[in-house]
Formats: sequence, structure tokens, C-alpha cells
Amino acid sequence: MTMSLRIYELRCPGCLNDLSGITSDKVFICGNCQKAFGAHNGKLTEEQLFFGASQHSLDKNDITIFLPFWRFHIAPTVLDPQQNNITATTAAATLDTIWIPAFYDVRPTVFGNVGMNLTLARIQPQLLPLSNNRIIQLPGVARRREDATLYVQPFVAGIVDRQKDISGLSINVRIGDAKLWGLPFGYDLQTTTLTDGLLGMQYPTAMVEYFEELAFAYGIGK
Ligand SMILES: [Zn+2]
Repeated sequence: MTMSLRIYELRCPGCLNDLSGITSDKVFICGNCQKAFGAHNGKLTEEQLFFGASQHSLDKNDITIFLPFWRFHIAPTVLDPQQNNITATTAAATLDTIWIPAFYDVRPTVFGNVGMNLTLARIQPQLLPLSNNRIIQLPGVARRREDATLYVQPFVAGIVDRQKDISGLSINVRIGDAKLWGLPFGYDLQTTTLTDGLLGMQYPTAMVEYFEELAFAYGIGK
């Protein structure tokens, strides 16, 4: 087996700014241009990037950070063992958008499945208006689109299974476009919790792998 090591020059193709990130990053954000670039076969390819506005008031002591998610448009189909289409009778019927964390979420069954919760709540975030003098960071994109795509089918199966036993059913998911979003979370230093700015749900910072490094990238802590 041979291993190849690829070294990218991490500069923004637009403004030549350094594209710094944390060690797990697979997509890099230029703070100047507010653009995202994924590394593919030795080249940097631009990804569209959106930031969601907070809809839930975050405590004034909190620091707002953005965690990255892939928003997939999907069209699921559920077939019973006789191959009848029973999609309309399942939770998949109204499921056209799902949110898969683009950061490494650690043990979601223990710490809470933030992507699942956002998906079940059918959130439709308002776009956060970007201005020239406001730089928004989005470090921690550890999953590229193709990595996140692997989670789509099991994610949909998990949602259908909450409502009815899926044994014997076949669940097919047609995957449409996927866009990278930064969603706001309030970080409370005292309780080391993250409060989701769209639903107001709380999670321990331990749900995010490399959280300390991420916080450091935001200029928080050591
Ligand atoms: Zn740039």
C-alpha cells in the first residue's frame, strides 16, 4: 500500500488571504470574502456558504459561534415488503430538507442529535445579512459534502423508525442539492453548554469533537 500526502497552499483564490482553520477542517472559509473552499484533488473548489440568523434570544453572557451544517434537499420513498409505496403514511411524507452536522458530532445518542432535532423541527433559518465590515468565521467543517451524504439514508431511516417499525420496509432517498450553512449557537463558558439559536435547545460542548480548538479559533479561551 502506498500513501500519498497532498499539501495544499491554503490561500483564498479570490484575495490570497491565508485560509486558516483547525486541524480537522476539510472546507476552509475566507473571512475576507465570506466564501468557502473545499479541497478536491489538489484544487480548491468554491462552496456556497450561508449563515443563519438567531431566532431565539441567546443569553447576553453567551458568545455566539457558528457551527457548520449541510442542508440537503431530499425526496424519500418508503416501500412496504410488497413494494407498495407507503411514503404518505410515514414521517418521510413531509421530509424534504435535512440537516447533517458538518462538524464531527460526538456520540449523538448520548449528547443529543442536533442535526436530527433541527430536521424534526423543520427549521427554515432566516439568512443573516452579511456586510463588508463584518467577518463571520466558520471553522470546524470536518465533513465534506460527500462525507455528509453517507449519513442521509440512515438519518431518514432513523426519522421514519421513530414513528413506525421499519423492519421489512425499504427506504430510498433521492438526494438533491446540499448547501453549507453556519448556524448560530450561544456558548456559555460557565456551564460549557451550547444553546441552539434556532430552537433554544442546549447541548454540552462535548458533542463537538475538537471543541477547544474550535473555541480557540473563535478567539475564546487559551
Ligand atoms: Zn478571500
